[in-house]
Amino acid sequence: MIKNITAVHGMHDYFFPDTLLWEYIENTIKRILKNYGYKEIKIPILEKSILFKKAIGEITDIVEKEMYNLNDRNGESLTLRPEGTAGCIRAIVEHNFFSSLNNRLWYNGPMFRYERPQKGRYRQFNQIGIETLGLESPYIDSEIIIITSHFWKELNIIDDVFLEINSIGSTKDRKQYIKKLILFLEKNFHLLDDDCKRRMYKNPLRILDSKNPNMQELLNKAPQLKNFLSKDCIVKLNKLCDIIKLLKINFSINYRLVRGLDYYNDIVFEWITNKIGSHKTICGGGRYDKLVKKLSNKTNISGIGCAIGIERLILLIKNINRIKLKDDYLIDIYLVPMNDNLALYKALFISEIIRKKFPLLKIVISYNFSNLKKQIVQAIKQKVHFLLIIGEKEINNKQLTIKDLLLNKQNTFFEKELITELVKILNFKT
Ligand code: ATP
Ligand code: MG
Repeated sequence: MIKNITAVHGMHDYFFPDTLLWEYIENTIKRILKNYGYKEIKIPILEKSILFKKAIGEITDIVEKEMYNLNDRNGESLTLRPEGTAGCIRAIVEHNFFSSLNNRLWYNGPMFRYERPQKGRYRQFNQIGIETLGLESPYIDSEIIIITSHFWKELNIIDDVFLEINSIGSTKDRKQYIKKLILFLEKNFHLLDDDCKRRMYKNPLRILDSKNPNMQELLNKAPQLKNFLSKDCIVKLNKLCDIIKLLKINFSINYRLVRGLDYYNDIVFEWITNKIGSHKTICGGGRYDKLVKKLSNKTNISGIGCAIGIERLILLIKNINRIKLKDDYLIDIYLVPMNDNLALYKALFISEIIRKKFPLLKIVISYNFSNLKKQIVQAIKQKVHFLLIIGEKEINNKQLTIKDLLLNKQNTFFEKELITELVKILNFKT
């Protein structure tokens, strides 16, 4: 027996009606982004591995254990992108694309991380990301928060998510803090788990993000990053909080919030939900003022961005079951030619006329040619609204019969009255 070939572990297929919800989420977000003057950027899924190592940082979960690396035929190391910011910045620098006309961008597409698959955590997942460049914090920081909160309002999930903000300070602030943190960790070395021991000198800040409850308890006694923030960072954080308070966006400051990628500085934030299991981030982001400099010899350009996980949004929206998408009828008009000769030709011809006149309707031809009773049973199963029957009698009399499966009513009319008749029964205005 042939064994079925299955999808790669942690990579998922999506079918209707989930695809309908996906389309709705994407369209809503894109519409709002355009409304705020953002433009799309399309970048490759495959990039040189060095890009992510440099941008994200060598000692991060993503680069250490989650990247899908491959060697191409020339032996060059390439990586399926685990996130979008690095590629965006690479593209902007490479094409000298940055200008005040192009400082608000968005992208959309699949990302790949070799994570342990579980609910809301997959090895291929999709993000819509926003990147803004060269704009002054904290005004643009608040713009990103305002836009994202607009997404949740429009998707009717604003009451199911909460916003956490933090400042992780400047490089200098973090250097001073890290010294003190390492001293604390050295003193408590025997209590650290293996991950923390490994990270202690290489990337100690990431220890704050440890998911191990024992480590979190230990960290309660550790020096706090907030006590090492420079005045400038505190002012920026306060200003951002003032602006979003003014706009009545609820948030809390989480002094432990650090992000999984090394390129962030100053403001970081996450939108979190508890409605798809405990504490899941649906959108995370922050400032990356040193990233352009890190990836190029160009003058530095500051930036802030965030990324939204589409699959987690789908899970959330399905769980709270508040959005009802209109899919009452999977097929609006089902043309049923009763033979594969003249009737079929007529159906092919007529269906094109109807599609042109009603471009938003779902119009399908049946190629069954079985008896009408059977076809009606099948049509009901397929959630058809109207049957357009083309039988021998109809051909001979230049007529058509339309049957409303909801009201169980049918009407025969002359072919030339087709559009008038459809406009009437579909309640369309011409
Ligand atoms: P987490 O803390 O959940 O691991 P992260 O900090 O790694 O998230 P980011 O790199 O900031 O996430 O990505 C932004 C968003 O992309 C996340 O908030 C989440 O919605 C989504 N995302 C990240 N990794 C995955 C994944 N493996 N599967 C599904 N969605 C993901
Ligand atoms: Mg992660």
